[in-house]
Amino acid sequence: MSKDITLGILYSGQLETQLIKSAKKIGRIKTTVLTDDKNGPAKHFCDKFICGNLSDKELIKDFIEQIDICTYAFENLSCEILETISEKKEVHPSPDTLKIAQNRILEKKFANKLGINTTDWKPVNSLMDLKEGIKLYGNCIMKSVSGGYDGKQQFRFKSIDEIDFKIDFSKEYILEKFLNFKKEISVAATRYKNGKISIYEPTENTHENGILRRSKIPANISKKIFNQAQEITVKFAEKLKYLGTLNLEFMIDEKDNLFFNEYANRCHNGFWHSVNSYEICQFTNHVRAVCGLDYIENKKISNAEMLNILGDEILKFRKKKHKQNEFFFDYLKKDIRPGRKMGHITTLKN
Ligand code: ADP
Ligand code: MG
Repeated sequence: MSKDITLGILYSGQLETQLIKSAKKIGRIKTTVLTDDKNGPAKHFCDKFICGNLSDKELIKDFIEQIDICTYAFENLSCEILETISEKKEVHPSPDTLKIAQNRILEKKFANKLGINTTDWKPVNSLMDLKEGIKLYGNCIMKSVSGGYDGKQQFRFKSIDEIDFKIDFSKEYILEKFLNFKKEISVAATRYKNGKISIYEPTENTHENGILRRSKIPANISKKIFNQAQEITVKFAEKLKYLGTLNLEFMIDEKDNLFFNEYANRCHNGFWHSVNSYEICQFTNHVRAVCGLDYIENKKISNAEMLNILGDEILKFRKKKHKQNEFFFDYLKKDIRPGRKMGHITTLKN
C-alpha cells in the first residue's frame, strides 16, 4: 500500500465491528462509520463515528468526502445511498449485486440461469396465484420477496384451506416447493480484484425458531456435496464479478441433493468461526479485497463450532470463565431483547 486508506463502513452493528477489527489488524487502514444508531457497537472500535439521519444528503456528502472506499455488512440497506456514494468513491460489493441479494426472485433467477439447482418456485402476487401454487406444489413455503430475514415474513401451506386471508398481497411473494429438508450448509468466499478467490469449506448451520443458533466445520456432508457447494459458490462470485466476501446458503434434502437457497452479499454470521478457525477470516479477507490489497493463500487452523448467544443468555456468558479453546465475543449491545443476537462463542475442536 503506497498510502493509508480510509475505509468507510455503513452501519455500526456486530459484523461492521468485526470488519473494523480486521482493518486494524491489517494496518494502515482507518475506518469511518456512518450510521443512524448512536449506540451502535462499532463506535467503540472505529476511528471516526458519524451518526445522523441517513436521508440527510449533507451527512452523506460529508461521509463521502472523508473516505476512499466504502463497504457494508448489512443486507437491508438502501441501494440508493450506495449508488450516491459510488458516483464519487468505490463501493464494494457493488450496489448491483446487493440488488440481486435483496430480492429472492432475482436471486433464484440468477442461479437458475447459471444452471444452479434450486427448489421449484413461482412468483405470487395474488390469492389466485397462491391457490394455484399450493395445488401445484402441495407442501410449500411462501416468503416475502424482499425484507424478510431470520424466518420472518414466511408462511407454510399444505393445502389451500390453510390460507390466512390476512395476507397482504400488496407485497410481492415467492412460493417455493417445500423440500424434504435434511440440513443447511453455507459457503463463504472472497473474490479479489485480480479475480482470485479464497474459499472456505462448507459450514453446517442449525436454526432455532428461525434464528441461526450453531455453525460448525466440518459439516457432516458427503465429499460430492462439499465439492458441489464450493464450485457453485465460485461460479456465483465470478458471474457476479463480485468483490469482497459473500456467503451462499444451501439446503440438502433426504436424497442428498443440493439446492441453492439464498446468498448474503456480505460477511455472514455463519462464518464468524473463521476468525479462529482459519489463518485469514472472512472479515479480513473482505477488507483486504475491497481495499485492493493482494490475495494471500489461506489455511484452515482447526475444526470449530460457533454458538450464537441470544437475549439474556449473554448475562451468564459475561460471568463465565472460558476455556483456552473457547473464544467469547460480546457484541456490547446496549439493550437486551429476547432472541436478539448479543454475542457468540466459538469453540475450537480437534
Ligand atoms: P431467511 O432469509 O429467513 O434465512 P430462508 O429462505 O433461509 O430465509 O428460510 C429459513 C429456513 O426455512 C431455512 O433455513 C430452511 O430451514 C427453511 N426453508 C426455507 N425454504 C425452504 C424450502 N423450500 N424447503 C424446506 N425448508 C425451507
Ligand atoms: Mg436463510
